Amino acid sequence: MTNILIFIWQLPQNMLGLILFGLFRHDARTADYRGIRVMRSPKMKGGISLGYYVIVSRHASETTVLHEWGHTRQSLMLGWLYFLIIGIPSFGWATSRTLFPALKKRNYYSFYTEKWADRLAGIKRKQKLKRNDDRKIGT
Ligand SMILES: [Zn+2]
Repeated sequence: MTNILIFIWQLPQNMLGLILFGLFRHDARTADYRGIRVMRSPKMKGGISLGYYVIVSRHASETTVLHEWGHTRQSLMLGWLYFLIIGIPSFGWATSRTLFPALKKRNYYSFYTEKWADRLAGIKRKQKLKRNDDRKIGT
């Protein structure tokens, strides 16, 4: 019963997560990770966290998966407000960095949605990130 309520609490992101799991399932591997489902897909760049579902690139680091897990904690806290407070701003941040390369001077993880996910996941980053740690797709 509790699991159903938690699923409904995060329904918008869980529904989109289920749809994307369906779309990305070919050539992907899926596993349980700290109470969520993580799919590794060659079609994904960066990562996306949607309630119970996380999709990352096939070669995502453990830190990336842990960061996405941090976003799932935000989803648990915010419920239906997740897209408004985290999803849309995070996607906008990632997209604007692609459109305006000058923004790449700022650390991707300095944006509040990302900093918060890192903190929830217990990730401590060095000031300078390697270029391949830079993210292309938000949340
Ligand atoms: Zn993120």
